[in-house]
Amino acid sequence: MWEQVLVLDFDGVIVKLNVEWPKVYNKVSELAGYPVTDLITFWKNTFGTELYYKANKIIEEYEMMALSKSSIYADVYEALKIFNGTTYLASMQSQKVLESFLEENGLKSYFKEVLGRERFGVKRRQLEYIIEREKGKRIYFIDDLQRNLDDCSDLDIKCILIKRWEGESLLQKIKEIFEIRKTSAFLGLL
Ligand SMILES: [Mg+2]
Repeated sequence: MWEQVLVLDFDGVIVKLNVEWPKVYNKVSELAGYPVTDLITFWKNTFGTELYYKANKIIEEYEMMALSKSSIYADVYEALKIFNGTTYLASMQSQKVLESFLEENGLKSYFKEVLGRERFGVKRRQLEYIIEREKGKRIYFIDDLQRNLDDCSDLDIKCILIKRWEGESLLQKIKEIFEIRKTSAFLGLL
């Protein structure tokens, strides 16, 4: 029996982060001196530079402001509770934002490690880090962006798209992936 590892993206999987993106893109473009229209590419191309860390700080402020206006998806607690394995959070949001959110929502203890953008720059590097740490285990990665899944499709992990915008449930996905048949009521009695 394989030990199972679950890797969750943050925005669009755990919470719908209500960031004022037009303002963020304006600020970053101003700082960079050229129009930035795609943050994933921006982080990838500037990783490790002064510009990366300056932009990180600016965006972090907008992300922190967004936290209070953003709501956690209703099935997250139950989904985390029902999964019997190791869970990581891998996000291109800032570490501070991720830690603050988990702390405020009482979710920190569910995660073995929280991986923010500062140390990694790209999602793929986060997954490579987890693969290295969890050798011999089966890893499942859930993200709401097909592009992130495509970037990691050649890694030895199972990539799963969640379409929250179509009403897909994280709890249901986890039950299906790990073939969990226990009912929520039963789980509550344990
Ligand atoms: Mg996302």
